[in-house]
Amino acid sequence: MIVEDIRVMAKLLQSTVCDLAEVRAVASGEEALRTAADLQPSLILLDIVLPDIDGFEVCKRLKADDATKDIPIIIVTGLHTETEDETSGFALGAVDYILKPFEREIVRARVKTQLELVRGRRELEAANKELAYLAAVDPLTKCFNRRYFMNTAESEIARMKRHGTNLTVAMLDIDRFKSINDRFGHEVGDLALSNVAEICEHTLRREDTLGRLGGEEFGIILPATAQEGAMEVLNRLKTLISHQVSMLDGETVSLTVSVGLTDVCDQDASIDDALRRADKALYTAKKLGRNRIVFEPSVPAALPPSSFPMHPSQEGEHR
Ligand code: GH3
Ligand code: MG
Ligand code: MG
Ligand code: MG
Repeated sequence: MIVEDIRVMAKLLQSTVCDLAEVRAVASGEEALRTAADLQPSLILLDIVLPDIDGFEVCKRLKADDATKDIPIIIVTGLHTETEDETSGFALGAVDYILKPFEREIVRARVKTQLELVRGRRELEAANKELAYLAAVDPLTKCFNRRYFMNTAESEIARMKRHGTNLTVAMLDIDRFKSINDRFGHEVGDLALSNVAEICEHTLRREDTLGRLGGEEFGIILPATAQEGAMEVLNRLKTLISHQVSMLDGETVSLTVSVGLTDVCDQDASIDDALRRADKALYTAKKLGRNRIVFEPSVPAALPPSSFPMHPSQEGEHR
């Protein structure tokens, strides 16, 4: 983006750099601010003397706005510059300073350098994003991996303790999964695993977190959800999974899951405490015959007073 109020100068600059990038020219400070935010140009060539706000002020405002602060700015000015002006331009965040009248080849070289830096930075940002994704996701099921799940769980516990909201955690394990591998082969097993993860992703809310904890076992974090609500969504999930039948090479594969559920309480020091209860509940669900959900409360339900065994020495006191 070229910001230049003198038409011939704008044209000259434009023809100097037009083969290096797509160029947009604007003629005032206000228009520069608006266009920078809308268009997100890779680079701004900024004149200082403008009809409305001066280039230094434009530079300052661009750097103060999150939407435009990373756009590099080259100040191009005809001001008979004292070094002071130049340094104030750099102090405001300009990356370079070109004096008018300019050598066209020098302008080209400097613009080219800045554009290459921008392109390099964008590539790096994209690569970092991809890397962060790969580090968080399980390659087979595309749901979060164990590490990401654990990190999310810890922050959800902290949030729960801060705001006093409900939080439930579930462990879901596919029933007799080994037999599916044995009967249909590992590839079909893999597909079944992906299907289960997909059904979970579709059924859970956006704020819930699904993670593959290992093998055919998944963890689910349900923020702002108490036992009843969690039971409801997990029941729906359990039914959907058991109704989903995959046809593979003419074979029919059907699955059921067992789920251990617990609520997180203030006494839980970390997610491990809650997962231990969920795992215990899952074990119970398996023992009771699978294809079911078992809830293990964080605080054991209080027994009614009458059922407390009384010490023989106290018996008389109540009579
Ligand atoms: P249960 O109802 O008690 O959970 O029985 P199960 O057979 O599901 O449990 P078990 O722990 O005995 O076996 C788990 C099986 O899951 C064994 C293993 O081969 C299989 N498995 C684990 N990870 C994968 C995977 O990534 N792909 C496939 N295809 N199978 C897997
Ligand atoms: Mg001017
Ligand atoms: Mg299993
Ligand atoms: Mg298992």
